[in-house]
Amino acid sequence: MQLRTQDRFGQQSIINIDKDPDRCPICHHGIAPKDLQRDVIVIHPLRMVERVFQCPRDKCGHIFIGRYSMSGPNSFGLAETVPQELVDHVGFGAEVMAYLPISTVSTTSPRKLRSVDGS
Ligand SMILES: [Zn+2]
Repeated sequence: MQLRTQDRFGQQSIINIDKDPDRCPICHHGIAPKDLQRDVIVIHPLRMVERVFQCPRDKCGHIFIGRYSMSGPNSFGLAETVPQELVDHVGFGAEVMAYLPISTVSTTSPRKLRSVDGS
């Protein structure tokens, strides 16, 4: 789909993106996120597009960013969503969760987490 976006200097351009995120990186539920219409082309260190979304769930409602990496001339593909937050399915408690590296959550295969709670 087409998107009108701009860089930090306000220079507008029309780009193609492949899709909206279908999963919230904070509550890890499948969602159709609300597009907050705040997106920007970031040049450094790699050319990418960042779009701001909001989770539509009543129990979440958090804002997150979808990052799109360049896949062709004026085309960008969804690469990751940030911030990735861990969900304490096992009941470790906040003290243990604070010590877990965020990298234990794979941004490319969030279904791993999904299978833990069976939802
Ligand atoms: Zn959410």
